[in-house]
Amino acid sequence: MRKIAIVGAGESGAQLALGLQRAGYEVTLLSDRSAAQIRTGKVMSSQCMFSTALDAEAQMGTALTEFYESGAVPGISSIRLHVGAEQAIEWEAPLDGPARSIDQRIKSALWIETFVANGGDFRIEKVTPRMLEELARDYELVIVSTGKGEIGQIFPRDKAKSPFDRPQRVLALNYVTSSDSMDTHGDAIRMSMAPGVGEFFTFPGLTVSGPCRMMVFEGVVGGPMDRWTDVGSPEEQLERSLQILREHFPHEAENFTDAQLTDGGATLLGRITPTVRSAVGELGNGNLVFGLGDAVVLNDPLTGQGSNNATLAAKYYLDSIVRRGQQPFDRAWMERTFDEFWRGWGQWAVEWTNDLLKPRRDHQKTLLAEAAEHPALAASIVAGFDDPRTSYPWWFDPTAAADFMQARKEDDTSAFDLRDFRGALGQYATGVTVVTTVAADGRKVGMTANSFTSVSMEPPLVLWCPSKRAPSLEDFEDATHFAINILASDQHVLSRQFATPATDKFAGTETTEGIAGVPLLDGAVATFQCRTVSRHDAGDHVIYVGEVESYNHDGGAPLVFHAGKYHATANHPDF
Ligand SMILES: Cc1cc2nc3c(=O)[nH]c(=O)nc-3n(C[C@H](O)[C@H](O)[C@H](O)COP(=O)(O)OP(=O)(O)OC[C@H]3O[C@@H](n4cnc5c(N)ncnc54)[C@H](O)[C@@H]3O)c2cc1C
Repeated sequence: MRKIAIVGAGESGAQLALGLQRAGYEVTLLSDRSAAQIRTGKVMSSQCMFSTALDAEAQMGTALTEFYESGAVPGISSIRLHVGAEQAIEWEAPLDGPARSIDQRIKSALWIETFVANGGDFRIEKVTPRMLEELARDYELVIVSTGKGEIGQIFPRDKAKSPFDRPQRVLALNYVTSSDSMDTHGDAIRMSMAPGVGEFFTFPGLTVSGPCRMMVFEGVVGGPMDRWTDVGSPEEQLERSLQILREHFPHEAENFTDAQLTDGGATLLGRITPTVRSAVGELGNGNLVFGLGDAVVLNDPLTGQGSNNATLAAKYYLDSIVRRGQQPFDRAWMERTFDEFWRGWGQWAVEWTNDLLKPRRDHQKTLLAEAAEHPALAASIVAGFDDPRTSYPWWFDPTAAADFMQARKEDDTSAFDLRDFRGALGQYATGVTVVTTVAADGRKVGMTANSFTSVSMEPPLVLWCPSKRAPSLEDFEDATHFAINILASDQHVLSRQFATPATDKFAGTETTEGIAGVPLLDGAVATFQCRTVSRHDAGDHVIYVGEVESYNHDGGAPLVFHAGKYHATANHPDF
């Protein structure tokens, strides 16, 4: 059995430990605090988890479903945005799935207790760099899931991925109960932005004493909300919070007039320099440790991505460890594993969050303002919180923003509620393909598609349908050939990678060259190399019909997509 040590039992470390324990690994989990100390300590985060990260929890077996099922933790179903003071922009849009916030004091403590109850080796140690050297001698893999203190310095800052060298916001967090805000505002995240001043957001959740509301203040450094240094006690922090609300977010102040802190540890102050670090740390004795979560990808909490990132990173690492089998966890494997997470998820969350820390550009102001009139646009902006990849490229690029806005406005005039229509179509389970071709200038081109269908046996014809708005459509139009690569169940990373705009979507993939130079993805369960024989205009999509000139199928389990989620096949219990 492979021996793995994990330092830190927070969002990422505890979940990875439980996931590995479930998969049969011998795991030692080290934490500077016991479960009881965590439960009775100070709040650490507002930890709002969106549906993609909640799905990852469910897959790792770490979801605290008893709280969801009993209704103890509210499902947050929408985001309400308020920008500016006079003539403020105001709108609300639904999230695709409910978001939830359970105090990390509850989660970490329960995860540790479950790990111990399942026979796991849990040790209370404040791990130092010297202790890491000992651990790295005794374990095949040492994962560090805390960036705090000395051990955080083991991972060198990645300058290219870290545009800021100082904090951009001053943070304050309070957990409160308040009759007004608990009863009258439903289960929404309410986010208020005061340009040049900062942001305030609030949402319901569950803390150690029961239901609560998180209040998060994000003040521009040196601005009028940067005024916490003279605050001595939690009560003074709450008083200062209410004062800031009255001055800068008066529309919220009335909701907190009778706010009470939930417990003695219900407040937090801080400032974070958003930083990405190299995920491989080299110790004094030459051994390597592998960084996870905030230790290597530290975001400002403005977009609430940190816990989501930490959870998704734990899932990527878990899958990669299991896939590794008995091979060594060497530097190349660590770099590849982090790179998979970075390309598949991390980079989108980081760049989007860093962008929101800056002043809004004109096209972004237009997007926010137009969303008040166009629900489909508002829903797209809101979707970025669950999955920041969906904000590319239109949040960043004025031309893409104009096109995107136009498309969303058209959505609003369509015959059906498109979200619901998509949901209905998603009931049809499909495989997942990456369709590839080669551009006129020799660039490899690929996009994820599940619209693949077999059409005819004689002649052998297949079809697929790219959107007219697909950035690579032009390349497919110019090419004589394309290939359909049917993904294997362990290629879900590629499905996400090829579904998101990136300068090099093929990074980290192995390909071989097919007919007319079209790249074929290694590891696909089947590949069809096709010559385009016809294209048919079909609404906002194009139907591409290809004659199969060559195919191969190596077998293996395919990736399945159903109702917006990835699945693996299983035999039906009746057969
Ligand atoms: C004010 C605020 C609000 C936030 N709101 C959100 C939000 O709404 N949504 C969201 O997704 N994220 C949010 N975040 C970010 C989120 O909390 C973090 O990104 C997330 O907890 C990181 O998880 P982690 O596993 O990397 O680290 P942590 O959860 O911090 O876990 C690290 C663990 O390591 C332990 N430890 C520390 N040092 C040592 C040591 N030397 N030896 C052994 N153990 C050690 C700690 O006790 C801790 O349990 C917020 C953060 C802040 C500050």
